[in-house]
Amino acid sequence: MHETLPSSTDVVVVGAGNAALCAALAAAEQGASVLILERAPENEAGGNSRFTAGAFRCVYNGVDDLRALMPDLTDDEVAKSDFGTYTEEKFFDDMGRVTEYRTDPDLCEVLVKRSKETMLWMRDKGIRFMPIWGRQAYKIEGQFKFWGGLTVEAWGGGPGLVDALTKIVRKNGAAIAYGARALSLIADDDGVKGVRVKHGGRTVEVRSKAVVLAAGGFQANAEMRTRYLGPLWELAKVRGTRFNTGDGIRMALEIGAMPTGNWSGGHAVGWDRNAPEFGDLSVGDNFQKHSYPLGIMINANGERFIDEGADFRNYTYAKYGRVILMQPGQFAWQVFDGKIIPMLRDEYRIKRVTKVQAKTLEELVNKLDDVDAARALEAIRAYNRAVMTKVPFDPNVKDGRGTKGLSIPKSNWANRIDQPPFEAYAVTCGLTFTFGGLKIDTSARVIDTDGVPIPGLFAAGELVGGIFYFNYPGGTGLTNGAVFGRIAGTSAGQRAAQVR
Ligand SMILES: Cc1cc2nc3c(=O)[nH]c(=O)nc-3n(C[C@H](O)[C@H](O)[C@H](O)COP(=O)(O)OP(=O)(O)OC[C@H]3O[C@@H](n4cnc5c(N)ncnc54)[C@H](O)[C@@H]3O)c2cc1C
Repeated sequence: MHETLPSSTDVVVVGAGNAALCAALAAAEQGASVLILERAPENEAGGNSRFTAGAFRCVYNGVDDLRALMPDLTDDEVAKSDFGTYTEEKFFDDMGRVTEYRTDPDLCEVLVKRSKETMLWMRDKGIRFMPIWGRQAYKIEGQFKFWGGLTVEAWGGGPGLVDALTKIVRKNGAAIAYGARALSLIADDDGVKGVRVKHGGRTVEVRSKAVVLAAGGFQANAEMRTRYLGPLWELAKVRGTRFNTGDGIRMALEIGAMPTGNWSGGHAVGWDRNAPEFGDLSVGDNFQKHSYPLGIMINANGERFIDEGADFRNYTYAKYGRVILMQPGQFAWQVFDGKIIPMLRDEYRIKRVTKVQAKTLEELVNKLDDVDAARALEAIRAYNRAVMTKVPFDPNVKDGRGTKGLSIPKSNWANRIDQPPFEAYAVTCGLTFTFGGLKIDTSARVIDTDGVPIPGLFAAGELVGGIFYFNYPGGTGLTNGAVFGRIAGTSAGQRAAQVR
């Protein structure tokens, strides 16, 4: 039985993921009454944020910043870790490099400069963080050395983050309605005045002084995917929630919002070939297969098709999903040998995995479904011959241990595939989120097609365009949602206080 929605409130927040919950918290901080509309039922709520590992990319200038963020860190843990630093300059460099310098400079500046303080704000509200020992650090001579600028995760991963934020938001007075799908905005010449909602089978209106849209991208909408990302994208799997079908973007465009950013782009990774069409919360992000920089990938023609070791995993994984989608049959096999298997990430050891194992390379290639075995064997042998074995292997740095003479080189972490047992894992493209979306300013106000803010309308998170292009530095999605969610909520709360 659905409870009746209130007919009015100060601020409506559309969505109940990380961006939305941060927005609700910030709006409540301004003294506003807040209603969160979540399309999903409670047991599937929390959007993509709930599917994450909870990794947050944020600036820290040394261990003191990390200790401030994670007061639970013990002296012993600090002593056995080399966290390095992740300065504003490094974050800017990463955002510039991976987006090919297209990221909106004003929004990028806010993202980078407010990452640390926003996470401290979350900590003050009761969110706990911890170092990503498992995925972002290698143990060398008894010390954990962190790499790739990604050091912090929310306690309990995505589910822990969403549960904690939900509790905190409620404690701060915001109400959440589940199974409440926002359909359209109520707006006139004075701006946005509320939302039309489908709730319990009925369409109702909720009036408000401000609306924050945080309803995710359009990745779970096969029609929009194909329309904007292009042919074959209808065949991609969706890594996360089935509820992010572009509603927030559509609603805003309908009242004149400006579309912006990389509408044909998205964050897409190598994902188990037999994973379900949408994410499965019991598996979370474990269908991903992110150890490819340590091995090679072979397509249906039995060929390598990409430099698996071009950069750290953090800086290539989000664009390689598209590359796999464009291969014949939309799949690839990742191949490893006995030396590397112990180094594979935990996600390779789950039950629901598409894997083959063999004692010889000949046996292995014949087990690779839908692959030209003879050419695959030749590709592996050619790769083995090309490995520069004199350069030492070091997974913590870009070691320059590459290949020589191949038309498609492998630039780092090249090891011969010559020690049994041999294993291969089948992957296809898993789309995480889409990059194109709404134009906002640094106060998270939604901008219209004339370049003017739409009064009363704010947006944050995945549905904002202009921040990510082509690629993405891992862990920036949650930081982006938190930083702009907080700003959007603050702006919406302030607007509510001004409007009578
Ligand atoms: C498997 C996986 C792993 C990931 N790992 C990481 C990671 O470790 N670190 C990181 O930074 N990023 C990660 N990401 C990306 C990250 O999830 C997103 O960037 C981020 O969570 C987006 O937050 P959001 O609040 O904008 O959207 P979401 O969390 O997706 O929230 C959108 C919300 O809107 C709701 N909604 C949709 N339509 C409507 C409607 N019409 N009415 C009402 N509600 C609606 C949805 O139900 C949902 O609650 C991962 C993503 C996936 C899928």
